[in-house]
Amino acid sequence: MRVYFDNAATTPLYPEVIQAMSDAMMKTFGNPSSVHHYGREARVLVEKSRKLVAEYLNISPAEIFFNSGGTEGNNAVIQGCISDLGIQHIITSPIEHPAVLNTVKKMAEKANISVSVVSINGKGHINLEHLEELLQGDKKTLVTLMHANNEISNLLPINNVSKLCRQYGALFHSDMVQTIGHYKIDLQAIDLDFVTASSHKFHGPKGVGFLYVNGNTVAITPLFSGGSQERNMRPGTENLMGIVGLGEALIQSYKSLETKMMKVKDIKAYFIQELRKSIPGVTFLGDSEEKGLYTILNVVFPKNPAGEMLINNLDIDGIAASMGSACSSGTTLRSTVVKALGVDEELHPIRFSFSHMNTREEVNYCIDMLKKHF
Ligand code: PLP
Repeated sequence: MRVYFDNAATTPLYPEVIQAMSDAMMKTFGNPSSVHHYGREARVLVEKSRKLVAEYLNISPAEIFFNSGGTEGNNAVIQGCISDLGIQHIITSPIEHPAVLNTVKKMAEKANISVSVVSINGKGHINLEHLEELLQGDKKTLVTLMHANNEISNLLPINNVSKLCRQYGALFHSDMVQTIGHYKIDLQAIDLDFVTASSHKFHGPKGVGFLYVNGNTVAITPLFSGGSQERNMRPGTENLMGIVGLGEALIQSYKSLETKMMKVKDIKAYFIQELRKSIPGVTFLGDSEEKGLYTILNVVFPKNPAGEMLINNLDIDGIAASMGSACSSGTTLRSTVVKALGVDEELHPIRFSFSHMNTREEVNYCIDMLKKHF
């Protein structure tokens, strides 16, 4: 049996997405910038997707810029804020995605900006009082904090952060890569300046996403130089098939969202219950057991002779999960999030992440395999 419990890394495509993309591939190959019939046909598909995204998020189509996904969006915001909006100070957290942390680090080395890291507690919650202290300087500030953490599931108290940012005149960017398509999101109800999203996290194709730029508050210039695509914000011929797939993935994600959410929550609760029964001593990182993003469960197993190789053993058993760590030249790098939470060096948390496509039978199989190792 093969079980895919790594849906925070990427998700399988909805059949409807494959169909919509195949239809577009068969029928529509024009360049959306061409003025002839073929180009106009392609343009219609791009604008249809944009309108869909705008409707679901309750924003204007003019505020959406298609791009290659979360990494590009995060780079565009951070670099654009420094080069175009006079940002001199960036506030972030130790548990952001590398697409934010490494970009902030690089920009701090290149540009004359200061960086502050808001403190977190043992559960990975942002310290809002510390954030308020950090906001009190007179430098023009960008706050970049993710909506849901991709390793420990914690949800940001986004409206509280937004209020603080507005009170102290800071710009606010949130990486919503793990929440768009998983919760109904009304961007009129959250006062922020930038949002990044990525289609492959909600059962759409890889290599495509979008950036939301609040048209009432900010404007930045593109990350790359080139043509005038995406209303001068993102040069390069549009990823037409990707954009079509993204639009269809959003439709499918928001169709019967409540039912799908209930199914994922049931699978996660069942997994927790069975883990507790079978492996005494398991604990869970961050908010992943209860309050956090419903798709993610980060499990700290008791000490195991396999150590960090447990994840590889599970792979041999047919189970795909993740450690939130990267392997290079045979060395396992501990995830920055796990480090920031001060997890014992001898423990190796494993992230299991679910979708409505998973089943209780898969949980049973996974538990049986885990039992072999403890
Ligand atoms: N931000 C978060 C929270 C993510 O989980 C990911 C994906 O791993 C990214 C950004 C990067 O997105 P993309 O794969 O579209 O570049």
